[in-house]
Amino acid sequence: MAKSSEEKRALLRLIPKIDELARVTAEMLVYAPQELLIDASRKVSEMVRNSILSGEDDFNADNLNMKNLSKMVAGHVEKTMKTSLRKVINATGVVLHTNLGRAPLSRSAMDAIFETSSGYSNLEYSLETGERGSRQEHLENIVCTLTGSEAAFVVNNNAAAVLIVLSTLAKEREVIISRGELVEIGDSFRLPDIMLQSGAKLIEVGTTNRTRISDYRNAINQETALIMKAHQSNYRIVGYSENVPLKELVKLGKQFYIPVVEDLGSGSIVDLSRFNLEGEPTPRNSIEAGADLVTFSGDKLLGGPQAGIIAGSSRYIEACKKHPLARAIRIDKMTVAALDATLREYIDSEEAIKNIPALKLLIEPAHIVRKKAMRLKRMLDRDNPTDFVYEVVAEFSKAGGGSLPLTEIPTYCLSVKHNRLSAQDLERRMRSFEPPIIVRIKDEYLLIDLRSVFDSEIPLIAKALLSSG
Ligand SMILES: *Cc1c(COP(=O)(O)O)cnc(C)c1O
Repeated sequence: MAKSSEEKRALLRLIPKIDELARVTAEMLVYAPQELLIDASRKVSEMVRNSILSGEDDFNADNLNMKNLSKMVAGHVEKTMKTSLRKVINATGVVLHTNLGRAPLSRSAMDAIFETSSGYSNLEYSLETGERGSRQEHLENIVCTLTGSEAAFVVNNNAAAVLIVLSTLAKEREVIISRGELVEIGDSFRLPDIMLQSGAKLIEVGTTNRTRISDYRNAINQETALIMKAHQSNYRIVGYSENVPLKELVKLGKQFYIPVVEDLGSGSIVDLSRFNLEGEPTPRNSIEAGADLVTFSGDKLLGGPQAGIIAGSSRYIEACKKHPLARAIRIDKMTVAALDATLREYIDSEEAIKNIPALKLLIEPAHIVRKKAMRLKRMLDRDNPTDFVYEVVAEFSKAGGGSLPLTEIPTYCLSVKHNRLSAQDLERRMRSFEPPIIVRIKDEYLLIDLRSVFDSEIPLIAKALLSSG
């Protein structure tokens, strides 16, 4: 019911003075600094005032009191004091989950960040000459070794890699790309928009499901700067489809002196097909097929920090490095440290698959994941909870991050149902645990997918379940 202005004035008079509100809240939060208490009291008091005046409030003479308002102030203060970015347990089974920070870093990457960032480093300083060096030098040699390329350049992320390649090689000129490859990726990477930003003109050829070499050839003219191939990432056209292999595009490019660039998106350094993870090309494949440049992410299947890696011929890499954008999208020292350490793990690929968490989790055989699920189940059994029914079930996980889009990775989950709580309620309780546990829901069941869970986290999941009843 709408309040009269008389009633509103009466309610406004009930709002305590800011100092008084801060003083009472301080009794609850003895550790909170005075300025923060005053600031939060001011915000709460203003918020209450505005909502009374606008009439869209639930305040009345009973609930508008010091106790309730100081609780609101305390909530504000605690929110400010607590760090917002926190560790969570990823029980979704999506190993490269973009919303959960994509690739967890290796021990060596973490150590390298700590070692080189807690003090000074030779980030841009040559220890040989005592003069200015380049941050890129730490990475270029190892990228070249791992991909077979002549030169390399690392930027902030793969979107930036594509942007600078197009800006450098195709500004105000034409880029030929297959209609079937104009992808939009989950977290709003739209290739056509990036192309537009770079000032390149997009020439789409073929149809969504079929593009032939003649479609590319017919589109070539004086204005053509580049032929581009993009990995289709999180979607695939199956069935009646045809696209042109990179090798043929390279042949066509050579004939007309047009460079060919491939955006791999994920790009795995090791060939994952021997682990039954089919269809993710390696940057080395692209370089060997003759691509002039290849771009890929640092934090997808590579398993390192957020970064975009450009590898290929020196001529084009040098041009990219000189572009004014290079300064705006350069990587910081923590990225250099973490990427350097991650890439060096690949010198011995057997070590890489053991030490890089994203790879280790992705290729873990289903029977090992099942063991983790059984361990979680036994932990619950020990408590003999009467509120739950639960069992270990075979399911499928996804790689995530647009990688291995078609691959359904066999996994094992603990499927849980609470006798009184809905799956949504239980999911919310798991999410508000400390640390928060992120799970999937399937029908009426909570699915705790152990593929993306580390061994050390299993007891915490058991504890969260047992305490959520
Ligand atoms: C993921 C992806 C990108 C964007 O890479 P970020 O490192 O997330 O910026 C670009 N192109 C393709 C094909 C991708 O899969």
